[in-house]
Amino acid sequence: MQAVKYARATSVDEAVQMLRDGGDVARVLAGGTDVIVLARERRRDIDLFVDIKHIPDLIGIDYQAGQGLTLGAATPLYEVYNHPDVKAHYPALVEASHVIGGTAIQGRASLGGNLANSSPAADGIPAMIALGGTAHIAGPNGRRDVPIAEFCTAPGRNVLETGEFIVSLSFPDPAANSGSAWERFIPRNEMDIAVTNAGVYLALDGDTVADARVAIGAVAPTPLLVPAAAEALIGKPLTDETIEAAAEAARQAANPITDMRGTADQRRHLAGVLVKRVLNKAAARARGDE
Ligand SMILES: Cc1cc2nc3c(=O)[nH]c(=O)nc-3n(C[C@H](O)[C@H](O)[C@H](O)COP(=O)(O)OP(=O)(O)OC[C@H]3O[C@@H](n4cnc5c(N)ncnc54)[C@H](O)[C@@H]3O)c2cc1C
Repeated sequence: MQAVKYARATSVDEAVQMLRDGGDVARVLAGGTDVIVLARERRRDIDLFVDIKHIPDLIGIDYQAGQGLTLGAATPLYEVYNHPDVKAHYPALVEASHVIGGTAIQGRASLGGNLANSSPAADGIPAMIALGGTAHIAGPNGRRDVPIAEFCTAPGRNVLETGEFIVSLSFPDPAANSGSAWERFIPRNEMDIAVTNAGVYLALDGDTVADARVAIGAVAPTPLLVPAAAEALIGKPLTDETIEAAAEAARQAANPITDMRGTADQRRHLAGVLVKRVLNKAAARARGDE
């Protein structure tokens, strides 16, 4: 492990200052479950950790009916998936948060860290994209908001500039008669990186799809929002045919690689399988069947 200095920020402004002064070798430390591994393996040149967990804005969960959900970016996953409002209104977030690492990891790791780490296979990101999330960012030039669907730019890369970090993540209040769901495929049940994952949000008006967002992960350099899959659904009845059309759009959008966890063909196939599964699960939730 390389020697790394540690600084604890207690306000957003102080963290911005520390990160700006630290330059390119300063890194935000949230749960540390990715960045400490990187530092230990010397895969990144890191000279300073700026710990953001002690900034009040960075920890906590606030849900207001009609307005939506705001998560402090460093809120640990176990707090997210145990929160009654998250359980009631954002099941896709619960499903993704619940499988990241194991219990010990979930005590530290955050959705802000999952997003900022920007792995193509990150489990939280497709759920957050499907739920229409926004990242609220602070930096030397002030504050800005970026849709989570546009946050990642390449494997391990994203829109954050030097000195910027994510303060919070927000999600609109789901419509009446809506549901969300998330699933991944991994070769074993615990502690593995997704071969493919998928998240959806679906709102129904009777049997017709009023709104939909479909996202897939581990099938391209970044997690993907698939607008064509939503277009295959919106304004149409939710049938096996329209679900298959959305799955086909996901397969078409996928541009996977072959690696030790799976082949490109397997990943493309899985994108379709998982999109069908999560659409059916979200539809059951939208109808109140679950
Ligand atoms: C054993 C093990 C199992 C794992 N299993 C999974 C898994 O199943 N699925 C999965 O998706 N991931 C998994 N991970 C990876 C990791 O746990 C997650 O990505 C986690 O969500 C990272 O959150 P963190 O708070 O620990 O981030 P950190 O490690 O603190 O930070 C990760 C990166 O994001 C930056 N960062 C953190 N917070 C912010 C912020 N608010 N603003 C700007 N930049 C920030 C850091 O500088 C760093 O570059 C696993 C890791 C381990 C060690």
